Amino acid sequence: MLATSTTVERVSSPAAHRSPLTTYRSPTTAAVSCEGVTKEFGANGTKTLALRGVDLRVESGELTLLVGPSGCGKTTLISIVAGLLNPTLGSVAVLGSELAELSGRRLVEFRAKNIGFVFQQYNLLPALSAAENTAVPLIINGWARAKAIAKARDMLATVGLEKRSNSYPAQLSGGEQQRVAIARALIHEPRLLVCDEPTSALDAQSGQTVMELIKQVAVQPGRAVIIVTHDSRVFDFGDRIVEMSDGRITAGGKP
Ligand code: ADP
Repeated sequence: MLATSTTVERVSSPAAHRSPLTTYRSPTTAAVSCEGVTKEFGANGTKTLALRGVDLRVESGELTLLVGPSGCGKTTLISIVAGLLNPTLGSVAVLGSELAELSGRRLVEFRAKNIGFVFQQYNLLPALSAAENTAVPLIINGWARAKAIAKARDMLATVGLEKRSNSYPAQLSGGEQQRVAIARALIHEPRLLVCDEPTSALDAQSGQTVMELIKQVAVQPGRAVIIVTHDSRVFDFGDRIVEMSDGRITAGGKP
């Protein structure tokens, strides 16, 4: 049982999650708004222009899929949206806050409270157990350790890892590590969940379970999810698809 305030129920068919791609949203509900976002990596001589003026609007209450060929800038874009990277040019507003206006400490606090991020390489802390890794966002948000660990164990049970709470990342398979990373990203019920290939190491059943969990916990009024994926199993869960190519959005950037 998931120990969150959100009720989690099994849903029989992925089709039950779908909402019309053409749903009208009021202009005030954007969870994410990017204007003219450009990102350049490297110094003179070895410059890479990873993003070339991206305009993107992500709606609250929706699960947005970000797709495109390897190297087109997907990870760079979601890292900027999550406040993990600064854009070279352009503006990014998340949940009504301009990220550029948040100073270092305020940005860290904003991220900890509002954003969950599932990294492609999971990024679990090797010295912490699965339960301790999962509890990190709660502890950062001021929860007492024992209470945070108890909730983390419940969260791990929800992703089928109740027997792995005390295992360290090196003792877990890739799929198990990925499920810990998803549990960690969801445990504080973030208003914005950003996932980079969250099902890449999961079998069919685990993939279905985590997508149902993501849909039920994170796709709520006032919350939004962005998922970078190549996984066709994930497509059934998407409300909108944004396509990228060569640092630009080529379809779906604005509803
Ligand atoms: P995708 O997620 O679509 O595969 P990325 O956002 O990872 O694409 O990368 C976009 C481009 O930016 C690629 O050419 C990649 O090599 C480059 N890039 C990404 N991160 C860095 C970095 N830290 N330093 C230099 N180049 C980078």
